[in-house]
Amino acid sequence: MPTERPPSEHELLPTDASSLINLQTCMAQAARAAGRAPCEVTLLAVSKGQSVAAIRRLATEGKMAFGENYVQEALPKIAALEGLGLSWHFIGRLQTNKTREVAQHFAWVHSLDRLRLAERLSAQRPDHLPALECCIEINVDGAPSKGGVDIAAVGDLIAAIQSLPRLRLRGFMGMPAMTDDPLQQRAAFRRLRGHLAPFLPTLETLSMGTSGDYIAAIAEGATIVRIGTALFGARAQRGERLG
Ligand SMILES: *Cc1c(COP(=O)(O)O)cnc(C)c1O
Repeated sequence: MPTERPPSEHELLPTDASSLINLQTCMAQAARAAGRAPCEVTLLAVSKGQSVAAIRRLATEGKMAFGENYVQEALPKIAALEGLGLSWHFIGRLQTNKTREVAQHFAWVHSLDRLRLAERLSAQRPDHLPALECCIEINVDGAPSKGGVDIAAVGDLIAAIQSLPRLRLRGFMGMPAMTDDPLQQRAAFRRLRGHLAPFLPTLETLSMGTSGDYIAAIAEGATIVRIGTALFGARAQRGERLG
């Protein structure tokens, strides 16, 4: 996109017009290679650590859905970009004292992992907004340090969430341990999908895959990939001021 004034140094950093198109081309190739239609896989642009200018630029290219991890970082960005019709997905670790802001300002939560959060979000969802779209985060390989629900407990949580009036359960999010080996990546995503297979006929969303492993995730059935650095470039450190 041409800009009407010379871009500031800050604006030159994050992204250019081609990174979105390149990524979408790679995603479509990965889908076709897996015998899937490219339209089955949606790109969520993960904008944590990225500036308002960088998000605005992607929005002018037609990207409308953005993922954020930290409520305090996200709220000023959401306010600055109000009116563009963007949809915001919360993908980070959610604390109970932050649920009200998430219920008020986000369209999706990918990282639901306990009933208490779900109950608060449902109770706090404003009446004028549609139900909050949700995914349950699965603790992929039983790693105790990571967020997410144990696969054994997921059936009960599904039933409880589905009884809440202001949430709409869409599916699952998973984030396996990082590895550069595509075969290991695929094996981890395949295990996750296998565990979830009993629920997937009705809950169709599988939010899995990031910059380093989205091709494997698409091969194994991801319907949303969450991509930051491959789209925007490197992130600012958390806590740095974001223009
Ligand atoms: C940061 C983050 C991403 C994006 O990671 P990249 O490697 O920048 O693509 C995706 N999902 C979650 C939950 C994240 O925290």
